[in-house]
Amino acid sequence: MIPPSPLRLRIDMGALAANWRQLRALAGVDAGAAVKANGYGLGAKAVVDRLHAEGCRTVYVSNWQEAAALAGHAPDLRVKVLHGVDAADLPAALSIDADPVLVSPEQVALWRAHGAGRRCDVMVDTGMNRLGFEWRGFCTEMFAGLDVDTVHSHLACADTPEHPLNAVQRDRFAGIASALGARGALANTAGILLGCDYAFGHVRPGIGLYGGMGMRQVVFPQARVIQCRDVPAGDCAGYGATWTARRDSRLAVLNVGYADGYLRAFSNRGAALVDGRRAPVVGRVSMDMIIIDVTDTPVPVPGDRVDLAYDLAEAAAQSGLSEYELLTGLGARYERVYV
Ligand SMILES: *Cc1c(COP(=O)(O)O)cnc(C)c1O
Repeated sequence: MIPPSPLRLRIDMGALAANWRQLRALAGVDAGAAVKANGYGLGAKAVVDRLHAEGCRTVYVSNWQEAAALAGHAPDLRVKVLHGVDAADLPAALSIDADPVLVSPEQVALWRAHGAGRRCDVMVDTGMNRLGFEWRGFCTEMFAGLDVDTVHSHLACADTPEHPLNAVQRDRFAGIASALGARGALANTAGILLGCDYAFGHVRPGIGLYGGMGMRQVVFPQARVIQCRDVPAGDCAGYGATWTARRDSRLAVLNVGYADGYLRAFSNRGAALVDGRRAPVVGRVSMDMIIIDVTDTPVPVPGDRVDLAYDLAEAAAQSGLSEYELLTGLGARYERVYV
């Protein structure tokens, strides 16, 4: 028998669904969902099931391995592969019911030769200089005869609303989407928050669904207490002795660490919640353990489950990590519990 995991990610599916509905309402157009990287770490299948029940019919993954896990998973679900398709992907791509988002002339040539008239999307680079067809000199003839469903671009600075590149990218994209005559999609979560003129015909929210960018918290990591101890003022704790007790203190050791994505950036900065009361992380985060100060909280006993403080905005400010890293770093050792 494989013992159950002693770590839990409590995932609030009601909050996930509410976040999707709210972002769709803000955009005022059809909304998909970015579920790459295993649904930002939450579990792609569970996320897709819940959002499909809300009416979401388009999901975005990065590669064909992720697509294979979701293709045919729910009725009328369209899986779209953001990295497109190359020669090495082709055998898989031809056997999986998902659409490549073509990013280059080489990919168009490959899909024209082998895609047998199957639907595809197109990604245009409007200034980020990451993935997609160059917007300068964009030529719609290249796509003649292809069944292009949606034309995409991606904003570089949407999380900085005042950045001038946002409007520049939007206006470049508007010209291209109308020339191609396909449905346009430009906005990620931050792009939706910029306003309706960024929505075009479809939007691709990701992080906001999972509680980022001020949306409702969805992910609640829980660890367990292994041991408690009393330490006198002047004693230190953890590797490198980076914390010293200023008073007689009671400490608890939890079974979570940087191998679980609770990175060393939380050393002497993060916190747990013991019966809703803050218990700061003291000393360095170890691979599989952290130490918290429970002097001012109800005294936990070994085996108790304790929530880590993981409000994404706050945890990002404490740790210097992005909200994206905070979610995708949560490792495989957590049991995902959907509530
Ligand atoms: C990941 C991704 C998204 C989702 O972005 P969020 O910032 O998580 O909302 C949208 N579009 C593309 C192309 C992406 O790669």
